Amino acid sequence: MAESVGALGVWRNWSGSQRAVPARWWRPGSEGELVALLQDSAGEVRVTGAGHSFSALCKTAGNLVFLDHLTGLVSHDAEQLTATAMAGTPLHQLGALLWPLGQGLINQGDIDAQSLAGACGTSTHGTGLGLGAFSAQVRALRLITPSGEVIDADAEHNSDVLHAGATSLGALGVITCITLQNRPCYQLAEREYLLPLREVLDSFEQLARDNRHAEFWAFFRTDRAVVKVLNESTEAPTPKPRFNLPVDKVLDLTSRIAHGIGGTDALMQRLLTGLHSEVRRVGRSHEIFPSPRASRFNEMEYELPLERGLECVEEVIATVQRSSLRTLFPLEYRTVAADDVWLSPFYGRDSASISIHQHICSDYRPLFDLVEPIFWKYGGRPHWGKLHSLDAAQLAELYPRWDDAARVRERLDPQGRMLNEHLRNLLVLP
Ligand SMILES: Cc1cc2nc3c(=O)[nH]c(=O)nc-3n(C[C@H](O)[C@H](O)[C@H](O)COP(=O)(O)OP(=O)(O)OC[C@H]3O[C@@H](n4cnc5c(N)ncnc54)[C@H](O)[C@@H]3O)c2cc1C
Repeated sequence: MAESVGALGVWRNWSGSQRAVPARWWRPGSEGELVALLQDSAGEVRVTGAGHSFSALCKTAGNLVFLDHLTGLVSHDAEQLTATAMAGTPLHQLGALLWPLGQGLINQGDIDAQSLAGACGTSTHGTGLGLGAFSAQVRALRLITPSGEVIDADAEHNSDVLHAGATSLGALGVITCITLQNRPCYQLAEREYLLPLREVLDSFEQLARDNRHAEFWAFFRTDRAVVKVLNESTEAPTPKPRFNLPVDKVLDLTSRIAHGIGGTDALMQRLLTGLHSEVRRVGRSHEIFPSPRASRFNEMEYELPLERGLECVEEVIATVQRSSLRTLFPLEYRTVAADDVWLSPFYGRDSASISIHQHICSDYRPLFDLVEPIFWKYGGRPHWGKLHSLDAAQLAELYPRWDDAARVRERLDPQGRMLNEHLRNLLVLP
């Protein structure tokens, strides 16, 4: 156990906006070791995946659990197309492990650096009508409660723990295994291209119906948007190009100029869109979904009723355009299917997902404070892993099964060991 308990030093999230110095890092080598750590300790416990959440979910000065030794596939069911993996498995490993089994993840988001439990923990999602978030695909999970009890949950056994645990923010205990519903493995063809923003807004509903995955990025200070669509394909995979314009590095540089020199953001956005050339490639789904994200930013995202999404985007764009805020990163617009996970932002409704970003060299608050009330007006629920300012009283109004989820949490963690200050503010009603 000596190797798995220690002071690894500072914990930081991906964007650097959250930082903590845990008294102890726990890196158990087995479930049994994790159970013993929980049973033989006292005080606050938080669990982190890959640290890619922007919000303060994982911060603790107490015990920080990190499951980098609990990775890999446990089992699979070839008939049901399900697979069980250890909670610490990074998504980029999971896709590659599933391929030889003939399985593929139903959907993925913009990157694949997250851990499996971290992605489920906040309802991480991609885009596509009828395609749910990661937590919507959870068929079973194993949870170790803060007192060290081991609970296996699925639709037949401990189903309340499944409904509360599929999106749990790490507030019920530590999840060690997750069973996901997958589908037959598949290739995707990607097409990314520029269009006038007005044309994108007017045609997006059709675009979303016509493609398995559709999304767009709208720049606030140009009239053009980048559209990305993905569809299943049986074409031969595209060879890796010998040279790729490092778009992400250009985004980083132009962001620094736009934020450093007043009045240059429109020019930089025109430069970026001017440099954009159409992307077309084909490959295995898990290789096509993720994109490089080397340029660091902070992000706010809300999930709104699908039918109001485009109206909301227009209001957000008009509001930012009227402001004098410096901003380079585009807004991202996606769609996500309804699910029945109690604390999923997609609970009970097909959703439009709108995210806004600010490069880390600039204070994100003026932009996020300007836009957040617009999301509220449209009935938005915040992405748990991204920045927002709502508290438990406001969130409880947005989640029909809030009380059921709270009852499960209070039963499994009566002392509130899994709550840091951020989670107490999010989950505990005054
Ligand atoms: C560059 C970038 C791109 C992104 N793109 C997308 C996107 O396309 N779509 C999207 O929806 N989100 C996206 N996100 C957000 C990200 O997917 C989520 O914040 C996700 O939760 C991060 O996963 P993680 O493994 O880093 O978990 P962490 O951020 O470390 O943890 C997330 C939550 O899961 C809990 N958790 C982790 N492991 C366990 C466990 N074993 N047991 C119980 N609870 C656990 C934590 O306590 C915490 O509450 C992006 C983030 C970044 C930085």
